[in-house]
Amino acid sequence: MLGIDLDRADLGNQDDLRIVASPGTRSLSQLVLRTDIAGMPLEWIDYKEAARLYHQEQVAYTCGSPLYKLYGGVNAESGLRTVLEVNSIVATVGHTGNPGNTRHDYVPPLNNQTLFRRDAFLCMYCGMRFPTRELSRDHIRPFSQGGVDIWTNVVTACRRCNNQKASRTPEQAKMQLIAVPFTPTYAEYIFLKGRRVLADQMEYLLAHFPRTSPLHDRIQRWLS
Ligand SMILES: [Zn+2]
Repeated sequence: MLGIDLDRADLGNQDDLRIVASPGTRSLSQLVLRTDIAGMPLEWIDYKEAARLYHQEQVAYTCGSPLYKLYGGVNAESGLRTVLEVNSIVATVGHTGNPGNTRHDYVPPLNNQTLFRRDAFLCMYCGMRFPTRELSRDHIRPFSQGGVDIWTNVVTACRRCNNQKASRTPEQAKMQLIAVPFTPTYAEYIFLKGRRVLADQMEYLLAHFPRTSPLHDRIQRWLS
């Protein structure tokens, strides 16, 4: 399986998707997927945080592929330089700042970046793909009719469709949604927040998505 560069995906051009096959040498900007001891995805961490976790012996085990080697100081006795090999996925012990992974009622914060990614940069009315600057957040039931700003009441819409719909429901505007909006689970949210997601990290996250997640299909379409 191939990885995906989400930072580039929102440029709206299929050709701009950077497909990241693993393994290979990684730059230090590549983020590491941190999981808890049970393997549940927790967050993305940078190499400094990864080094800290290794150093404090909080890494219980690793998955995925070796990302990079970090070189430490030279040991005075042995004369050897300490080398830390960091993997793309690290399972850690101890507390985390993200309790969301264990709560079934967890609702990730809603913002346009993750919303557009949830909907694969497709307008949920005309079905066309657009760059971020041409997309907007549409409230299916508009505020003026009691709609609220929650994942299940918002979809990605191009400006044209959003203008056409105006302050009406899809029924009133005689416009049809091409997919039902959903609240991402914690694992889905971690994926949507990713920057450059490596193949092994993506495979790992996909395995933690609900089987019925629309993201399975959307990611396949992204990659094809
Ligand atoms: Zn549209």
